[in-house]
Amino acid sequence: MDGFDLVVRGGTLATAAEVFEADIGIRDGRIAALGHGLGRGREEISAKGMIVTPGGLDSHCHLEEMGQDGSLHEESFASGSAAALAGGTTAFICFLPQWKGHSLAASAPGYEARAARSRADYSFHQIITDPTPEVMQKEVPALVARGIRSLKVFLTYDPLRLTDAEFLEVLAAAKRLGAFVTVHCENFDAIGWRIQALLKAGLTDPLQHAWSRPPVVEREATHRAIALAELVDQPIQVFHVSCEEAAAEIARAKGRGLKVWGETCPQYFTLDHDDLTGADFAGAKAVCSPALREKGENARIWRRIQDGTLDVVTSDHCGFSFATQKRVAGGSAYGTGAAVQRPDGTPAFNAIPNGVPGIETRLPVLFSEGVSKGRIDLPTFVRLSSANAAALFGLTGRKGSLAPGADADLVLWDPDAERVIRNAALHHAIDYTPWEGMVVKGWPSVTIRRGEVAVRDGEVLAQPGSGRFLARGPYALARPRGVVPDGFDAALA
Ligand SMILES: [Zn+2]
Repeated sequence: MDGFDLVVRGGTLATAAEVFEADIGIRDGRIAALGHGLGRGREEISAKGMIVTPGGLDSHCHLEEMGQDGSLHEESFASGSAAALAGGTTAFICFLPQWKGHSLAASAPGYEARAARSRADYSFHQIITDPTPEVMQKEVPALVARGIRSLKVFLTYDPLRLTDAEFLEVLAAAKRLGAFVTVHCENFDAIGWRIQALLKAGLTDPLQHAWSRPPVVEREATHRAIALAELVDQPIQVFHVSCEEAAAEIARAKGRGLKVWGETCPQYFTLDHDDLTGADFAGAKAVCSPALREKGENARIWRRIQDGTLDVVTSDHCGFSFATQKRVAGGSAYGTGAAVQRPDGTPAFNAIPNGVPGIETRLPVLFSEGVSKGRIDLPTFVRLSSANAAALFGLTGRKGSLAPGADADLVLWDPDAERVIRNAALHHAIDYTPWEGMVVKGWPSVTIRRGEVAVRDGEVLAQPGSGRFLARGPYALARPRGVVPDGFDAALA
C-alpha cells in the first residue's frame, strides 16, 4: 500500500545492530516500511549523504525541578525540550521529586502539568527520599500502575540520601512491583568528613569539590549499591559513572551475571580537573557530582564504553545558570554541609549547585568524540544514545529503533558538518555550556519526532505541548533473576 505521510529517502541508516541504505516510509507517526524505491509520500525528505539514526532518548535529565527550599532548575520544559530536539533527542526521562517528610503527591505540585508543555516525548523517574510505608505501599504502586516504572535513589546529599536500610526497602518494593531502580552512588559520610576538613583548612575553591569526593567514595558506594541489589535480587542501573574504579565494580557485577547496568555522561569523557579551575570562579561551571576526575580518566571511561561496561550515555542536564545560581552563595539544596560564603560573595565549593547543562550537546559531543574520531561505530552510538536506554526503561519497540511499528523518531546527521559549540547558538535557558569553543564534527541537521519535522537546520518547529507522556508497562529486563541467598526471598516474606 502506498500513501506514506513522509518518506525519508536515500539515507544511510544506523540501528543498534547494523548500518544499511534504505528509504523510510512513515505513516501516522510511525515507521511503516523500510526499503528501496518506496512509493511517494505526501512529504519527502532527501537524506542523501546523511546518516539516519533513531531519535535520542536521554534517560537522565533535570527540567524545571523545584526543591523543598524553593530553589528551581531554570530550565523549563519548553526550553529544555527545544534544546533536546535541536541536539537530536526526541524523548527524555526526567524526575518527579520527593521532599523528605512529604508524600509523593505533595512533593511535586503541578509538575506533571508543567511537563505537558514539552515539545519532546517524556517520562518520569520517581525520586524516593523518604520511603515510608504509606509511600511505598500506596503511592508507588499507584505510580507504577500509571506507567512510571522507575525509581531513583541517592546515597548522598543531605536532603536526598537514603540509609542502607531505606535503600533496601526501596529495592524490595521495586522488586514486588516490577519497577526498575537507578542509583546515585557516593558515600555520604565520607564526603561530609572531607568537606569539613577542607573548609577548616581554608580550601574553598571549586576544584576542592572534586577533592571532597574522590573516586574511592564513588567506588565504595557503587560496590555497596550492587551488593544490596544482589541481596534483594533487584535489577539496577548505576547513574553517572565518572571513574574506572566504579566502572570496574559494574564490570565485575556483569561478569557474575547480575542485572546491573552503568550510565555515564559526556562530562566524564571530555572534561577533567582543569575545567574546575579558571579565572572569575569559572570552575563552578563544571561542578557536578560525581566530580570531574584527573587527566587520564576520560580515556579510561572511553575504554569502559568500548568494552560494554557503560551501556548508556545521558546528559544529566541541570539547569543552573552561572550568573544567577552557580556564582552566588544561596544555600543550594544540592550542597552538603553548611553553606559558606567567601569574602567576594561566591560560595565555597560545597554550596555550588551541582550539575552541568548538556541536553543539546550530548549527542553532538558523543557523535564527534565517538564516531567521528573512530572510538565507536554507528551501532554502538545508537545503543548508547537511545536503544539501550529504551531497553532499560521499558520503551523497546517504540523508541531507539528504526523497525516498522516504532515511533518515527529520526535524526538526519550530516557526518561532515563541523561546528564550534557556542552557548549563544544553543536553545537551552542556561547562560553557559561547559563545551564552549569545542569543535565537533557531525551535526543533527533534521530531527523528526513521531513523523513530524521538529527541527530543521537549527530552527525548532515543534510547539510546546506537542510532546507526549510515555507510559511504560511491565518488561522483561526489569524482572529479577530469581536468585536469592539461601533461597529465602526477604522481599516477599
Ligand atoms: Zn541527575
